[in-house]
Amino acid sequence: MTAPFPASTVLGYPRIGPDRELKRALEAYWRQDIGLRELRATGAGLRERTWMRLAELGLAALPSNTFSFYDHVLDTAIMVDAVPGRHRRPQAEDTAFAMARGDEHATPLRMTKWFDTNYHYIVPEIGPDTVFRAVCDKPVAEVRQARALGLTTRPVLLGPVTFLLLSQPGPGAPAGFRPLERLRDLLEVYERVLSALAAEGVPWVQLDEPALVADRTPAELAATGEAYRRLGALTGRPALLVASAYGELGAALPVLAGTPVEAIGLDLVRGAADLDAALRTPGLAAKTVVAGVVGGREVWRTDQRRALSTLLALRPAAARVVVSTSCSLLHLPYDVEREDGLDPRLRARLAFAEQKVAEVVELAGRLAGVPAGSPAPDRHDPASRQAAADPSPVPAAPARSPYPVRAAAQQAHLGLPPLATTTIGSFPQTGELRAARAALAAGRLSVEDYEERVRREIRQVIGLQERLGLDVLVHGEPERNDMVQYFAEHLEGFAVTRHGWVQSYGSRCTRPPILHGDVRRPEPITVRWTRYAQSLTTRPVKGMLTGPVTIAAWSFVREDLPLARVVAQIADAVRQEVADLEAAGTAVIQVDEPALRELMPLRAAGQAAYLAWAVGAYRRATGGAGDRTQIHTHLCYSDAGQILQAIDALDADVTTVESARSHGRLLAEPAVAAFARGLGPGVYDIHSPRVPDAAEVAGGIEAALRALPAAEVWVNPDCGLKTRTYRQVESALAAMVEAARQVRAAV
Ligand code: GLN
Ligand code: ZN
Repeated sequence: MTAPFPASTVLGYPRIGPDRELKRALEAYWRQDIGLRELRATGAGLRERTWMRLAELGLAALPSNTFSFYDHVLDTAIMVDAVPGRHRRPQAEDTAFAMARGDEHATPLRMTKWFDTNYHYIVPEIGPDTVFRAVCDKPVAEVRQARALGLTTRPVLLGPVTFLLLSQPGPGAPAGFRPLERLRDLLEVYERVLSALAAEGVPWVQLDEPALVADRTPAELAATGEAYRRLGALTGRPALLVASAYGELGAALPVLAGTPVEAIGLDLVRGAADLDAALRTPGLAAKTVVAGVVGGREVWRTDQRRALSTLLALRPAAARVVVSTSCSLLHLPYDVEREDGLDPRLRARLAFAEQKVAEVVELAGRLAGVPAGSPAPDRHDPASRQAAADPSPVPAAPARSPYPVRAAAQQAHLGLPPLATTTIGSFPQTGELRAARAALAAGRLSVEDYEERVRREIRQVIGLQERLGLDVLVHGEPERNDMVQYFAEHLEGFAVTRHGWVQSYGSRCTRPPILHGDVRRPEPITVRWTRYAQSLTTRPVKGMLTGPVTIAAWSFVREDLPLARVVAQIADAVRQEVADLEAAGTAVIQVDEPALRELMPLRAAGQAAYLAWAVGAYRRATGGAGDRTQIHTHLCYSDAGQILQAIDALDADVTTVESARSHGRLLAEPAVAAFARGLGPGVYDIHSPRVPDAAEVAGGIEAALRALPAAEVWVNPDCGLKTRTYRQVESALAAMVEAARQVRAAV
């Protein structure tokens, strides 16, 4: 007999710590300031605190195994023993860190964005010969830890279908191999894990299958059905909750409903259409539906009336309705109550993870208060933002001359060599700089003194780049805490938090600003820093701005306006900044859009419309620049090849993208050869502490030259240098400049 699913739960919880305790411990461990024992103690403390807090808030069912020292996809790879030989270390944590970060012995695995969020996961490598094996230590240890506290938890595992769909073929895999081909072998391991958890007395296990909210082929849906029929048939197993997130299950819903799993989790915020689908799915009548009516992506308080009406509408479709979140709360900060710097009227409208839990608990109480069988109230259909998207196109910006005309004007103006070298913008953010910013915020340092430190940093960064011999310099972004927050702090319509940290990857966190009103730029933001940097050198200094899509993507955004409108407002502010930079004599201006692909709808149906307005916003931001001004853009990911047409439509003169870590995947794309603009495929991976030598970098440049004419190739790192040390940066850039010289001499 299955224990009924308790009345309320959340699909997952933040894990970095309310004061980023995990970040600090990880970084101390990596610096070898603390040992593994201390690191583990920090993890254990955070888990305990989370469970106790959730229980205290009245949440009925607590998740476990949502903690991770780095990433839960990576943990899953370790759980099934899909660990490349080069990364194996005696301790599981060190194995994870070697896979995620690389070290002197091994290059890391690729990292990429998790669905349409700003969270990044480590991409497992699966080949035809990967030997799967169940390594249950982590989920079991968490169950035991909770049990010692008197708590029963629901282990959360990444589901086997999503795990394989997110994986990439291992290095030796034959062309055309797809990791999903290994599903049957993997299921054997999941059976072992489920049995091990059953042996621990665990009543429920959650299997996350967010990959099912994207378009899936009939074969993939069939594989999903097969997977859950098979896991469902396992004897002596825990009850299974298969949870979606980030959108609607659509066609996958009846597939799951046709399997023996006991519960299905629906995202009824972004996947609101699943409500009607659920009512049409007879197979759900015998199951529990874990109803994600409290948004795990949005910081706004839940409309309780609407959520309750969704829950009541769902009741006739299912044997039991449980109140939950639309996805893990991983994407939210911990607690809005700590934000005493926020306008109280704004704060009253906000809910972070703690508040969302309280909302879930409250809704479960309300739902229980409505007797079963009472007629459902009028439905308040959740207004989906997608549906509300404004059909009116963003006005086109006045066109700049065609690229070849501009390129000639820029070349005449800038006189750059072929294989021009540059960086992506930021230089290392030293502890001293961060301390100065903290001192400024605390009133211990005057604005004048702070700005003098920033200028000193700019002088050093310019001096260093001149010494290294780079062609297009940057000022290094020392005045910016973060590429989005900095702009949010200088634009009207945004609020910023003090403690609102959200994990981005590993130990890296961001504090997404809250965009709550109309966006306006009261005065120039970056001009004086760029102008100062330019005053120190005769080489061109790139102005450095964040693009409108990225500013929106990495903020929590108002929902009373269509997203396209919100982004257009930001674009207008950026456009003003571009104009002011240009007027100040800036010949090269980079407008970063690393989040362009991130906001792309997961299903094909919405993608063309999205790209049209997103590209429109970028052109609105940059299209006012004159022909002589060289516009650069930077995108952080290697799958740029997939949206190369859209990138082309951005109409930037130079595009820099990640490439090193994915072993030049981008360059293999046929579309690259047709991309007749400047392209800088990153020649070394800045996410790893490893420093490349000139030969390695030269190899990367030569790979680019096989795909592109020399006049179009730029030589640059994969991304900004902010997270590295000056030692690493100096040697890596020296190798890069040297490599460019060597290759230039040879062509
Ligand atoms: N200009 C930014 C930097 O160098 C770009 C960062 C990014 O792409 N995420 O830091
Ligand atoms: Zn980047």
